[in-house]
Amino acid sequence: MNFANDYNDVQEEFAKEVRAWLDENVPKDLVRPRNILKMSREQWEMRRGLCRKLGEKGWLYPSYPAEYGGGGLGGDKAAVLHIEMAARGLSLPPLYDSGKLAAPTVLACGTEEQKRRLLPPMLKGEKITWQLFTEPEAGTDEASQQTNALRSTKEKDYFIVNGSKIFVGALYSPPDQFLLLTRSSLDAPRHQNLAMFIAPADLPGVQIYPLNLFSEGTTSQVCYQSSDSAPGVKHSVFFEDVKIHESYLIGGDQDGWKVSTATLTVEHGDKQTAAGTGAAFIPRNFMVEKFLEQCRKNPRIKARLRQNPHLLNDVVDAYIGGQIERLFLTRNAGLPRAGKRVPYAGPQTTLFIKNQGLAMTGYMARVLGPYALTSDEEWGMEDGLFEVCERAGLCIAPGGTPEALKIVISRGLRIGR
Ligand SMILES: Cc1cc2nc3c(=O)[nH]c(=O)nc-3n(C[C@H](O)[C@H](O)[C@H](O)COP(=O)(O)OP(=O)(O)OC[C@H]3O[C@@H](n4cnc5c(N)ncnc54)[C@H](O)[C@@H]3O)c2cc1C
Repeated sequence: MNFANDYNDVQEEFAKEVRAWLDENVPKDLVRPRNILKMSREQWEMRRGLCRKLGEKGWLYPSYPAEYGGGGLGGDKAAVLHIEMAARGLSLPPLYDSGKLAAPTVLACGTEEQKRRLLPPMLKGEKITWQLFTEPEAGTDEASQQTNALRSTKEKDYFIVNGSKIFVGALYSPPDQFLLLTRSSLDAPRHQNLAMFIAPADLPGVQIYPLNLFSEGTTSQVCYQSSDSAPGVKHSVFFEDVKIHESYLIGGDQDGWKVSTATLTVEHGDKQTAAGTGAAFIPRNFMVEKFLEQCRKNPRIKARLRQNPHLLNDVVDAYIGGQIERLFLTRNAGLPRAGKRVPYAGPQTTLFIKNQGLAMTGYMARVLGPYALTSDEEWGMEDGLFEVCERAGLCIAPGGTPEALKIVISRGLRIGR
């Protein structure tokens, strides 16, 4: 395996084309604030514009089938796109969009007609999707959905949705559509009583309210050079007698559990499915980089390390953690390209990153000491970076809690239920 991830000749040639295109099409005034909550609406709109341009070219979802609006590219070329975007501090897609969960779900479970109707707007960046799974009483225990989508007794081809969702969405609303998990039967046994929809977000009876949470997102969402998600701003969504046509139902009336498994397989970090768009993506963790830079260059931190040599353990642990993270991601990127699948690779990496994010907050607090508390460029880390990292490290629930990930890993190892 090539751990350096150098380009081969074909990739190098393609990278020239990609760089030239990005030079021309990435807006010059597009900025990447360290604290993603500082992204203005104008900046967000710029990213939407970039999504559409990438989508037109098939480069927003490069490894998806071209017939549905993707790029139809193999892993090697898709990797180049991810890497070249990351080099500019951008990800694919360059803003928060649960289309990266909805698209593989439709690809795996939708009918041919649905793939042709629903995938192109997502893959071409025309529609932004939010994932609506979590409810006040249904987080890890996702099968406990209480938002009902029941077949209308008067109009049989419609479902009537009532209920609420929590912790969903992103910085700017409204989205164009939801990937919506619901309960479709009040009588059927657990796991056979759910239904999944791609539902338009502007249906009458839908109401969206912002929630302000303590974190800007998880470590991987805020600490990678190229992550553009902003899940720190989340929303509650309420449904009151919302009518959804059955053409938006993915799978059968009672197939929601099976369909959500397709979504969660990707969300838990398994990018090895054919549709896994992140397959070749090896981001840089700028939080680790910035911290090590402080340890090397900041005279006050250097003095602290000289006076407290035991703190060097924390510096070394931060470095090693960053390297393990990179190697896990490199391995995961290499697997699909080598035609191999390791069922626990994704959740194993996600779990490691969550634990490493939490550990980083301790390393940084101990080593930086009082300098962790200032955002002054000369005295501390830029742009309040320590606090961003600390909040992100504590944000371990999205995409599965560590306990949930351990259950998924154990199943992959065939030692779970
Ligand atoms: C910033 C943020 C962004 C989010 N984004 C989205 C989103 O876009 N869309 C969406 O649908 N949801 C989203 N969520 C919700 C997230 O998926 C849930 O918070 C998560 O699934 C955990 O559910 P919960 O909060 O109800 O905690 P609970 O499920 O109540 O868990 C509480 C604790 O109990 C543990 N636990 C629960 N069950 C078990 C078990 N069987 N075995 C062992 N331990 C267990 C958990 O690990 C956890 O420590 C987001 C949450 C946050 C904080």
